[in-house]
Amino acid sequence: MEERAQTEIVLEGVAASSGIALGRVFIHIQTDVAIPSYHVDGSMHAGEIARFDQAILATRQQIQKIQDEVEKNLGADEARIFDAHLMVVEDQALIGETIREMESSGLNIEACFQKISQRYIKAFDEIDDEYLRERAGDIRDVAQRLLQNLLGQASSNLTRLADKRVVVGNDISPSDAASIDRSNALGIVTDVGSKTSHAVIVARSMRIPAVVGLRDLSKRVQNGDWILVDGYDGKVIVNPSESTLFVYGKVQKERQGQQQRLIDASKKPSVTLDGVAITLRANIEKSDEVALVKECSADGVGLFRTEFLYLSASRLPGEEEQYAAYKTVAEAFHGSQVIIRTLDLGGDKPLAGHADLFPPESNPFLGYRAIRFCLENRDLFKQQLRAILRASAHGPVSLMYPMISGCDELARANEVLDECRAELRRNKIAFDEKMPVGSMIEIPSAAIISDLLAKKSDFFSIGTNDLIQYLIAIDRVNDRIAHLYEPTHPAVLRTLRQIIDAAHKAGIKVSVCGEMAGDPVYVPLLLGLGVDELSMTPPLIPAAKFLVRALKLSDVKKMAEKALEMESPKEVYAMFEKFCRDRLHLLSVPLVD
Ligand code: PEP
Ligand code: MG
Repeated sequence: MEERAQTEIVLEGVAASSGIALGRVFIHIQTDVAIPSYHVDGSMHAGEIARFDQAILATRQQIQKIQDEVEKNLGADEARIFDAHLMVVEDQALIGETIREMESSGLNIEACFQKISQRYIKAFDEIDDEYLRERAGDIRDVAQRLLQNLLGQASSNLTRLADKRVVVGNDISPSDAASIDRSNALGIVTDVGSKTSHAVIVARSMRIPAVVGLRDLSKRVQNGDWILVDGYDGKVIVNPSESTLFVYGKVQKERQGQQQRLIDASKKPSVTLDGVAITLRANIEKSDEVALVKECSADGVGLFRTEFLYLSASRLPGEEEQYAAYKTVAEAFHGSQVIIRTLDLGGDKPLAGHADLFPPESNPFLGYRAIRFCLENRDLFKQQLRAILRASAHGPVSLMYPMISGCDELARANEVLDECRAELRRNKIAFDEKMPVGSMIEIPSAAIISDLLAKKSDFFSIGTNDLIQYLIAIDRVNDRIAHLYEPTHPAVLRTLRQIIDAAHKAGIKVSVCGEMAGDPVYVPLLLGLGVDELSMTPPLIPAAKFLVRALKLSDVKKMAEKALEMESPKEVYAMFEKFCRDRLHLLSVPLVD
């Protein structure tokens, strides 16, 4: 660390995933390439072809370089994977068709290459042969690299970091976050984002410290700079001094001790002081998180965000692959519920490289996402529904639909599910005939008609991340307005109460699976409002369990009634913050905002 001579810079952002990380910066450049489309006249065609040739050459050289590195580090067999990539870049049909497309359409070469490569990807994706379908992934990877070269953009690959680094970027897409090299990513720091953006949720579940909303940090640091990430207090320190490092060394030790005390305390049953059992479940993104969930003593899974199976793969996972993932999770919990949510792609989780399925939108959060996408892509939807139904034969599985906005939509989804049930019955494939089917309540229209939806759902799960976003009109990934995102806003509290009452009146249970459920301050508030179950990122379960065991349900119910009468979100927050701080103090654990 001799080179750390420059001045220390301390920056404040939003604490997104707790923990402290120290390491060198790796600048991440977003790889999702926006493709310009414009007219080029005949006199410019030769120039376009020359640019194309150069990009092909650069792409070939980059792939060869990676292949050489892989051969040196892992061996010849592993390196042969890249032969397929080299074949794509040398494919005369792809190159020839792109040039002919330019000549006939008169569009620039990037736009033409994008169009033709998408056509190839789609054709391979649809082939009923595992090996050939994988070629679609090769073409997608190479096309992405080639387009970056054409546009003069550098590429970065978070799936294989050369050594241990803190990843710094303007933004990190959920798909990049999902495929991040867990063994080498020490921390994540971004210019934009908020506590509920999906990349942050992934960082939290992987226990990677993260701070977001640092405005222009990615332009102020360089690859190789030293950086300290304080994911507890939302600070980032560039070129930390020896004295700062000393202080943080002590802080880290204390925090580790506190977390251990919480984990030890969480081994006991989740029961309030007045004897009410509260179910605490885990939110997961991938089936390989099972071990981590068990470590945190979760009572099963309350939200399996299945779209991450799609986001982290280079091709769409088929029924068998999904079935294997869902079955692994269903079997792992020996009798505890596993709630699998159907695909919630779109919004801030578009599927990169699938412009055919997700055309660009000016307002993606209000656009073509989740159940809307599934109902229009019936074959994809049915593959997933069959995979979930089949997994239900291996353990208590429930299914829930995201972004339900009305009764007709729920009925249409259930019709497709019925079709899948009938198909499985016809083929004598086992599944749980009584598998519960729930609705996520995360759109204001669904909240307002929750009495109607409750009659047609086996349970409710409230997605507070989106519900609050739509109720207060606060984009959940925009750091400029992140401070206005107030879960204690009277409109939020009244809406939650309305949903909970509607559920209970219909005799169904209601859970909260948005980030609010894992924030210690909101645990007593949600329980006081009448929520039956909470589901959260696994590392947050110990603190929530400790609080459940340190409160009386009758007390928090009274506090929630009082909160419903209050006008100021800040006052409500302060009341529950004090309640929470006083209890965590019993374990010498401070409350971190
Ligand atoms: C939510 O909106 O609260 C939720 C749990 O879903 P997601 O964060 O995946 O949109
Ligand atoms: Mg949501």
